[in-house]
Amino acid sequence: MAQETATQEQVQEKKVKPLVPFLRIPDGWPDEPAYVFASRCKACGALFLGERYACGRCGSVEQFDEVRVSDEGEIYVFTVIHQSFPGIETPYVAAIIDFPEGVSVRANVYGLDPNHPDRSWFGKKVRMRVEKIRVDREGNDVVAPKYYVVE
Ligand SMILES: [Zn+2]
Repeated sequence: MAQETATQEQVQEKKVKPLVPFLRIPDGWPDEPAYVFASRCKACGALFLGERYACGRCGSVEQFDEVRVSDEGEIYVFTVIHQSFPGIETPYVAAIIDFPEGVSVRANVYGLDPNHPDRSWFGKKVRMRVEKIRVDREGNDVVAPKYYVVE
């Protein structure tokens, strides 16, 4: 009985952790969607991916407004990676994805054939899905934004 209680407490202590610092995971995830966020400078309006404490454009250290970044963006530029670290399957497509809010994310793109001879993928639409990618040493779920081509 006491052991059961301890186990339940351990389960409750598990957290969902974002792999990247610009991913916001609400307490209600996965029922409530996770999203990428940016910070808008209240002084000059410049937008930066993730959290900011000082503006790279005007130098302001005033407040920043959080802006929710769309789940859909488009490929600005890409490259096919043929060699990577041991254990990383290649080839895969790495890209810079532009979002309508005016920020970009560097991410791998899923749903494209890296060996395809016609790689006319500039401007291709992608949609984010937030997925659990692994469990860390403390037993927390680690989740990451993954970008899939929109058919
Ligand atoms: Zn600024």
